[in-house]
Amino acid sequence: MRYSQYLLNTLKETPADAEVVSHQLMMRAGMIRKIAAGIYSYLPLGLRSIRKVEQIIREEMNRAGAIELLMPMVVPAELWQESTRWEQYGKELLRFKDRKEADFCLGPTHEEVITDIVRREVRSYRQLPLNLYQVQSKFRDEIRPRFGLMRGREFIMKDAYSFDVDEAGADVAYDKMYQAYRRIFERCGLRFRAVEADTGNIGGSSSHEFMVLADSGEDAIVSCDSCEYAANVEKAELRDAGATAPAPTEALSKVATPNQRTIEEVAAFLKVEPARLIKTLILRTDGGETATVLLRGDRELNDIKLCRLLCCNEVELADEETVRRVTGAPSGFAGPVGLKGRIFADFEVRAMADAVTGANEADAHYTGVTCGRDFTVETFADLREAVAGDPCPRCAGKLEVWRGIEVGHVFKLGTKYSQALGATFLDAQGQEQVIFMGCYGIGVGRTVAAAIEQNNDANGIIFPMPIAPFQVIVTMVNPNDAEVCAAAEKLYADLLERGVEVLLDDRDERPGSKFKDADLLGIPLRVTVGARGLKDGALEVQERRSGTREMVPLAEVAEVVA
Ligand code: ATP
Ligand code: MG
Ligand code: MG
Ligand code: MG
Repeated sequence: MRYSQYLLNTLKETPADAEVVSHQLMMRAGMIRKIAAGIYSYLPLGLRSIRKVEQIIREEMNRAGAIELLMPMVVPAELWQESTRWEQYGKELLRFKDRKEADFCLGPTHEEVITDIVRREVRSYRQLPLNLYQVQSKFRDEIRPRFGLMRGREFIMKDAYSFDVDEAGADVAYDKMYQAYRRIFERCGLRFRAVEADTGNIGGSSSHEFMVLADSGEDAIVSCDSCEYAANVEKAELRDAGATAPAPTEALSKVATPNQRTIEEVAAFLKVEPARLIKTLILRTDGGETATVLLRGDRELNDIKLCRLLCCNEVELADEETVRRVTGAPSGFAGPVGLKGRIFADFEVRAMADAVTGANEADAHYTGVTCGRDFTVETFADLREAVAGDPCPRCAGKLEVWRGIEVGHVFKLGTKYSQALGATFLDAQGQEQVIFMGCYGIGVGRTVAAAIEQNNDANGIIFPMPIAPFQVIVTMVNPNDAEVCAAAEKLYADLLERGVEVLLDDRDERPGSKFKDADLLGIPLRVTVGARGLKDGALEVQERRSGTREMVPLAEVAEVVA
């Protein structure tokens, strides 16, 4: 590719709304452009990296025996009604009507559609096991789209679904995906942990999240320094941390307020199963302002992990600012997560679960719960302080605490969807049986963003070779110098011949700005073609990551680089 003919505009300024480094760099490197909140175009350079990740995913999925198909993004409501998720999913599900007033949604995930396909196509045990996957744009109307591709509303996901005759078969399918995921993220050059994850209301099944280690991550995870144990803090077996929180004071009294909402009412309002709601807690500020924090076990509703904040009288969703004001939580706080004596937020809050125990009894809530007195709000650093170095629940090792970016998720579904939609098969005895399922997702754009979070410096991106948009950039120092031009063109042709993905920077620009752009784009190798080197019959080859430069004889460059 010739830079002069490519669509690639780098930005000097960091866009004001880009909070995390991957978002900043993807904008500055001209990889993506925003069309609306959480909705992006992938410009040519960005698309190349996306396609690299997709290719790695496809190779590993195919190697694991999965088969690619493609489902529609627009899904009729009927399928979602059959699974009852039409009622339960909340506002992340974008619903709309067609011209005939029929209800549809944009698929945020495809369990319903794939189960419908399988119930029609699979009749016999001879057709199983089966693992079907697609790489497709999903839509989730995220409450707080942010961080560029990291949390978009429209985003590319690889989603796979396994179908087996029994639980043992489903376990094998799950394990294959788990291993495939490890290979995928290793091949992408990422530092990650596969962590035990909450299974929400699909109890009994198991689930792992693949977490890229990065400070900008929205999840908190623990892992052992000597064995394989690793878990999301929501799931982690931690020592009773609540013991250090203050005891509830006498001022806490259980009351039924005039407009008290029961869990059932709140659940009906939120359109979720009551079982998903854990408990509520009324918080009052000094100014007498009241809000109810509803801790919930539902991970599908939004990215405010296990919580919804409700105004206690109106049962209206309160905004994040109100949550912060009322809970006294630090900036960046996105809502508490209840677990084992603590309340964590994705930006790390610890509170005291004792204060909320029993609060989910109908018509009974605590009032007068005061932040600081009855519970404490702590930061991620506090969590790390409290947990890091604790004994591992599995071995004699010690726990480490990280922030993680969830790039992949594998989940044993059991028969939840096959039962609801009637996906069955005839066994060897001719008996009808329900199919066992698993589902497996990878965020493609989020994986690219996570890789950039882990691989950058003050000058820009440092792409791991396997997902770099180009492998080599050939920089013509002076394209008006005929000798430079000819040497660069020859090298460019040689590299293309050898199948190297090369960007030829043939622009009529100052060398300094070309070098700056090369660093910003993060292409792993740069070959500088300049008059000075040519005089000695050599070209400078520089590695983006280490900065190491080497003069390589002209005739050997293509070979060295390729
Ligand atoms: P999160 O906890 O970050 O909201 P999730 O658990 O809702 O993610 P899954 O339903 O497990 O996501 O979807 C599978 C994968 O899709 C995730 O592991 C993640 O990599 C990706 N993904 C989910 N939501 C988004 C999003 N809004 N933008 C980009 N990628 C996403
Ligand atoms: Mg989500
Ligand atoms: Mg998640
Ligand atoms: Mg998930």
